Amino acid sequence: MKRIGAHVSTAGGVENAPLNAAKIGASAFALFTKNQRQWTAKPLTTESIDAFKQNCADHDFAPETILPHDSYLINLGHPEIEKLEKSRAAFLDEMQRCEQLGLQLLNFHPGSHLKQVSESECLSTIAESINLALDQTQGVTAVIENTAGQGSNLGFRFEHLAEIIDQVEDKGRIGVCIDTCHSFAAGYDLRTAATCKTVFSEFEDIVGFEYLRGMHLNDSKKGLGSRVDRHHSLGKGELGLEVFRYIMKDVRFDSIPMVLETIDMTLWAEEIQMLRDMEN
Ligand SMILES: [Zn+2]
Ligand SMILES: [Zn+2]
Repeated sequence: MKRIGAHVSTAGGVENAPLNAAKIGASAFALFTKNQRQWTAKPLTTESIDAFKQNCADHDFAPETILPHDSYLINLGHPEIEKLEKSRAAFLDEMQRCEQLGLQLLNFHPGSHLKQVSESECLSTIAESINLALDQTQGVTAVIENTAGQGSNLGFRFEHLAEIIDQVEDKGRIGVCIDTCHSFAAGYDLRTAATCKTVFSEFEDIVGFEYLRGMHLNDSKKGLGSRVDRHHSLGKGELGLEVFRYIMKDVRFDSIPMVLETIDMTLWAEEIQMLRDMEN
């Protein structure tokens, strides 16, 4: 069975995320556990944590169907030590917030080399950042998201994800999230069933479906290989609907959270229903 939802708002507190997800008929969701554009946040209160857990239980959201996303400011591959340490501390805080909420996954963008170090050096720094965070936490899997390859962001090739995983010590707590818009913008053609088959068998060979912990389902405003990250509503962009039909019919995508980050939240309920219809 597919678990489908959206990246929902936490306005008023994290405990509102499961309620917002339930309202759109979701069976999975994503959230920020703190403001994604700020470095620091107040600790979660016991009341907020308890209400979050209660609301998740009331609406049947098991921890493995929830895919929290970290702050956009964090760069786990930062070439400058002070800034790297700031990112590592913020990432640890994000992991600990997940632990407190009883969550099992934390989705993040791998990092950027800022044209100051080589790709492989940056990938090693990212892997080391992950090792440090995993050492200090329990029960939360670090989920690397593939990127569109904007600027100097790494993670736009499946090989980058594999190179990071290779250097992570605890293989049981490392995973990946594949974003359809990012993949397409990075040059992976997902426009037809035939090209989807090719791309996902490449993914299987290089990374492996055993590491797939989540998907982001987005259409793309920009073309194939544009290396620009601009999401669109399903079926309204350059990607089209075929990839979503393909994913909905493929059992390798069962049970993991599949999350819409499409641009018009008023369409989310409809988009979720459309995806459900594709599954049958
Ligand atoms: Zn995404
Ligand atoms: Zn994106």
